Amino acid sequence: MLPHLFIFCVFFCSYDAKLSTAASAGDSLLGNALATSGVTTVPRWGYREKADELTPLTWQVQYPVCGTGERQSPIDIESNAVQVDRGLQPIRFTNYQVEPVDAVWQVVNNGQVVQLSSTGFPKTATPGLTDGSFNADYEFLQLHFHWGASDDLGSEHVIDGRHYPIELHIVHQKVRDTNPQDSTGLTVLGVLFEVAPTGSAQAVQNPNFQLLMQAVGAVVDPGPSINMTLRGFSLDDLLPTSLKGSTMYSDAYYRYLGSLTTPPCSETVVWSVLKDHLFITEEQMQTFRRLRKRAGFEGPDNRLSGNFRPVQRLNGRIIRMYDPSGMIMTSNPRPGFNRVFPSWWRLVEYPRNG
Ligand SMILES: [Zn+2]
Repeated sequence: MLPHLFIFCVFFCSYDAKLSTAASAGDSLLGNALATSGVTTVPRWGYREKADELTPLTWQVQYPVCGTGERQSPIDIESNAVQVDRGLQPIRFTNYQVEPVDAVWQVVNNGQVVQLSSTGFPKTATPGLTDGSFNADYEFLQLHFHWGASDDLGSEHVIDGRHYPIELHIVHQKVRDTNPQDSTGLTVLGVLFEVAPTGSAQAVQNPNFQLLMQAVGAVVDPGPSINMTLRGFSLDDLLPTSLKGSTMYSDAYYRYLGSLTTPPCSETVVWSVLKDHLFITEEQMQTFRRLRKRAGFEGPDNRLSGNFRPVQRLNGRIIRMYDPSGMIMTSNPRPGFNRVFPSWWRLVEYPRNG
């Protein structure tokens, strides 16, 4: 198993494994089985104070890096502290418009997030991205969401103290990576969504995004991964419509070095958070909010909503920004240039792959 896949499976796959064990034992109440069976000897990690699960403040009991790490995620991105970095380049997407064979995706509510992946991408056309800033290729691993019970909370990344109701993470793994300690072994694209006001132009449903919502609505209760045919759905449906059919994201994004936002909080992630948010409709938001943490229970305490980690300390990290307007100016230097790009930009060369 690839090292980073293993890291992700520590938390993304463990629930499935436990459920499989319970299922093979003939227990039909899978969620209840997990909660009470003693299949696991470690406390389950989660987000809310409950006797049987660790909360973000206590994840470190079982996963030390969550507490001792120096480059943890998410963070509050304060725009007045962000540094425009001329060395950053647009994100180049590869095969983001490609659908898996027979359009089959694996969809899972693992009791912590809802996640989509696919084993059906052609070997020669797996979606991915290239970050020209450090010359590395990454391929798509999975995508998932974090969200809140109300519109004022839910995203993991915070912009100038503002939370968004939901955040998408598209996770990629470095191609040909063999070192699980690689500090840039994973790259995650973070996209923030706002709920579109009723009646607004943004409230018109994106038909391809609706395919995703079919998948989300099919896993209200946690359980093993299911196969779903989502004909017409590809990763570029989740990005700004201006990017549809394009291979390059040329709008502004934030860049920093961080970690997984879930245990084991491995510090192996290059984060790119798009500066501009997208919109989701109220109806789509409610589809997320109906998802349950455990099967067979109803009520607010059993909602997945609230599955976001609080922001972490920067510890001196620099948050860089790719700014296309700045790029235009750098291509045509003129007197006064250094007032726009002061001397620090020369000092913030992006770390190369180690
Ligand atoms: Zn995430």
